[in-house]
Amino acid sequence: MSENRSELILNLFKESQALLKGHFKLTSGKHSDVYFEKIKLIERPAVLEKIINLLVEEIRKDNPEFDYVVSPAYGGIAIGFLTALKLNKLFAFSQRVEEKMTVRSGFAGLPGQRAIIVEDILTTGGSVQEVLECLKSLQVTVNGIYCLVDRSAGQVLIEGKPVRSLLALKVSAYEPEACPLCQQGLPLVKPGASDKK
Ligand SMILES: [Zn+2]
Repeated sequence: MSENRSELILNLFKESQALLKGHFKLTSGKHSDVYFEKIKLIERPAVLEKIINLLVEEIRKDNPEFDYVVSPAYGGIAIGFLTALKLNKLFAFSQRVEEKMTVRSGFAGLPGQRAIIVEDILTTGGSVQEVLECLKSLQVTVNGIYCLVDRSAGQVLIEGKPVRSLLALKVSAYEPEACPLCQQGLPLVKPGASDKK
């Protein structure tokens, strides 16, 4: 990927305000200077559309054979839906019901078809893995896995392969006692704390 394109992608994430710089306490308890507020990706549809256009270019380049775009709820819905719209494919989403990733029975055309999975932000790869298992149980052939941001910078492997991403970003996380931002006396923010159950 060219320098200009990476720059363009980074700027779009900044424009969406999903990519925040500061001093954050992550769910792991570690501190970081970068945080993704992923819900922000869908707050500005016009910016999201520009991001999706770039993702669509990547998918077109790979040229996987697929009938459906499948994304995990909720954040992935707008992203996968827009991707499917632009590629003239069908769309379905998966959701957790009693902890188990499932697809609503109303998506009756999906079983036995070919799909790609589109996710917003890949952190541990856990939810993508769950979507994959769910689709396999429906005899769906998964011919590609894409995400907008890979926070593991290619470290997370799904079936032995890194996930295709628009932005692969290694986020540094520090133990609180070794955090350079604490040492600089920057105020610590715990983002999204009020939303977590
Ligand atoms: Zn700190």
